[in-house]
Amino acid sequence: MQLVPVEIDSAINKLKDMNARKILLQLPDGLKPESFSIFNKFSRYFNVIISSGAFYGACDIGNMEVYNSVDCIVQFGHSEIPNIKYPKPVIFIEYMYNQIELDDSIFNTLKENNIKNIGLLSSVQYYNEMLYVENKLKNMGYNVIIGRNDKRLKYPGQVLGCNFSSAHSISLYVDAYLLVSTGLFHGIGAQLASDKPVYILDLNDKNIKNIKNDVDKFLRKRYARIEKAYDAKKFCVVIDTKVGQYRKKLAYDIYNKIKSLNKDAIIITSDNVNPSDFENIMCDAVVFTGCPRVSIDDGDKFKMPVLTPIEFEQLFKFKNNDRYVMDEIVNVDYSPIK
Ligand code: SF4
Repeated sequence: MQLVPVEIDSAINKLKDMNARKILLQLPDGLKPESFSIFNKFSRYFNVIISSGAFYGACDIGNMEVYNSVDCIVQFGHSEIPNIKYPKPVIFIEYMYNQIELDDSIFNTLKENNIKNIGLLSSVQYYNEMLYVENKLKNMGYNVIIGRNDKRLKYPGQVLGCNFSSAHSISLYVDAYLLVSTGLFHGIGAQLASDKPVYILDLNDKNIKNIKNDVDKFLRKRYARIEKAYDAKKFCVVIDTKVGQYRKKLAYDIYNKIKSLNKDAIIITSDNVNPSDFENIMCDAVVFTGCPRVSIDDGDKFKMPVLTPIEFEQLFKFKNNDRYVMDEIVNVDYSPIK
């Protein structure tokens, strides 16, 4: 499978149209080995800086000190989040994988589990693959449905680790979801966000797997972590200042709820979360209102439990507790960072 740029020339034309002179390139780690060729391509026309920092998605356009001095940011590998007001022009160069051939037999698992109505999902890198699978499954006689996205997503059927609106919009009409992806993260998120079974079509392994066992294992570990926050006396509530993760109102809502429990709380801002900061502050638990991946994926890096806002609300019964609820971001507050 080869990664191919689909829009570099068009990005250069857009930058020329906006008379950009100085631009910042954000490259995901997988593309950093291409830094020289990408830099050289853009620097024929513009004054270029490459950001060496990690960035996490279209919700994160980097360090304000750097982007304040450029005319435009060019971010590779992600699709725009349409309902974010970006403080600078940003051009997104999506990378989509080349289509691969899949044998019909790969889909036997769906037949064996009597699935006839399939909801298709994918992360943006595999969007073309999802359309290929749609066609294939339709030819095999399945009823295939691709869900409507909300305004945090660019494409129908797309998922982000913080948004599964494409799955919600079709939950009544499908027997199961098939997520075209690699790895488990988006699949676990989709399963936590939905009542219907989620299968992953893993393009590396070229097989379809049910992720129920992975989700059960995740939940056991997650609940053990969450429950440790029950006796916490001192909470840090974190507002992430990244433009697409900025949920200040929610942070203050959580802060007030903590105070109503007669516990102590402070509000903290963060751009790049550092677990040792919280050890220095000596809090017993953290509620993190930025990307849910920090609580869910990186939780083990912290000495204290790090909860998503909804986990906190469920633990202390501000929300009903029937099932685990995934922290999804629909909208963010307008960031004062300019
Ligand atoms: S908030 Fe997290 S999951 Fe959502 S787009 Fe940003 S990095 Fe991805």
